[in-house]
Amino acid sequence: MLSVSRRVQALKPSVTIAFMNRAKAMQRAGKDVLSFAAGEPDFDTPQSVKDAAIKSLLAGQTKYMPTLGDPDTRAAIAKKLTEENGIPNCTGEHIAIGAGGKHSLFVLCQVLLDDSTTWSGGGSSGGEYVQPEVLLPVPAWVSYVPCAEIAGGKVIEIPTTVENGFKASAEEIRRAITPRTRLLVLNSPSNPCGTMYTPEELQAIGRVVAEAAATIAPNITVLSDELYEKIIYGGIPHFSIGSMPEIAERVITLNGLSKAYGMTGWRIGYTGASGAFGKKFTDAMATMQGQMSTNITSFTYPAIRIALTQCAEEVESRRVAFAKRAEVINARLTKLPSIKTARATGAFYAFPDISAHFGKTSKGGKKIDSAMSMCEAMLEENYIAFVPGEDFGGCGKNHVRISFACSEQQINAGMDRFGQFLADLK
Ligand code: PLP
Repeated sequence: MLSVSRRVQALKPSVTIAFMNRAKAMQRAGKDVLSFAAGEPDFDTPQSVKDAAIKSLLAGQTKYMPTLGDPDTRAAIAKKLTEENGIPNCTGEHIAIGAGGKHSLFVLCQVLLDDSTTWSGGGSSGGEYVQPEVLLPVPAWVSYVPCAEIAGGKVIEIPTTVENGFKASAEEIRRAITPRTRLLVLNSPSNPCGTMYTPEELQAIGRVVAEAAATIAPNITVLSDELYEKIIYGGIPHFSIGSMPEIAERVITLNGLSKAYGMTGWRIGYTGASGAFGKKFTDAMATMQGQMSTNITSFTYPAIRIALTQCAEEVESRRVAFAKRAEVINARLTKLPSIKTARATGAFYAFPDISAHFGKTSKGGKKIDSAMSMCEAMLEENYIAFVPGEDFGGCGKNHVRISFACSEQQINAGMDRFGQFLADLK
């Protein structure tokens, strides 16, 4: 009999994928389902990027390569982080390329967090195992908690609300920091919230981290997840907290090609970090990844360089398309009855609070008492697939995630159906 590890038994399957698959199965069965579930852009990979990979494949770049990537590609990413994001003291040696942002997240959690079985004593905890704490403003992307927990971290949620744009303030973060804090996770623009921190808000958080590092939390590091940095349209400029000199050597910037370039299936992500801290961290990533997966698919490296250096036009035209879609969905959502929503300013998600409708019954007779039951009723009765917010943590249980990586026509049709669903509730 197969005995599956407790570690895996404790993992929850992704609700996002479950709803996406249900919507797809209904579509295959001929139902006219409008899906707003997938967390990926509807745009294809730019042709020049595909061509670069094909050329490299045909030229025979098909063998093992250095674990964290070839030197040219690591250098190209370092140049991007230096010039676009202002990360200081960042060279190719400070870059770890992994098989998607999610894989890089998994590896970095293994690198930064100990569990009681791998901890070997000593250190600042004085010879006694102290579970490292991971601070996470919630609602947040569903993979942070499992990746941190599998590595031995204890996730401390910092609740946020729709009223403050789902953002934790510097003061709230200060209150959550303890001597056990190992990692603070920030994600701007946010999945699932679609909102962004302003540069000033991030600078205030950075100052709190610097102060805590000098006093109670000497081991604190920051993970800045910037996967959606290119998809912004609300007038808030993107700011990389790793550019702040006082904390640069505590920040790991996580990014990848999935969202900005329509490359979710390629599986390309990376981390960048600064100076001596960044070098030590990146060497540790090489040790861990070297025992996990080694390098990513070798003929994709030239394609990464093309994406980063020659696709600005495609990225901009997509950003403009997302901006128009956001305008449509922001306008439509604010007109719906008893829906509270924060204006989407980045990524491609709206995350409205639908809890005012809990306690009602759908036209098909389903009792609506949670985001999950509402999403199920909407899918079954009105053929629209949203993702229920329970798994994003915090107030997410009162919200649904609507991914608007689809045409304006589909957004309007979906909002018509959503409006009808709400109007039919009794
Ligand atoms: N970070 C956030 C906030 C995300 O939403 C995702 C994907 O949905 C990722 C990281 C990882 O993306 P990938 O593994 O495709 O690079």
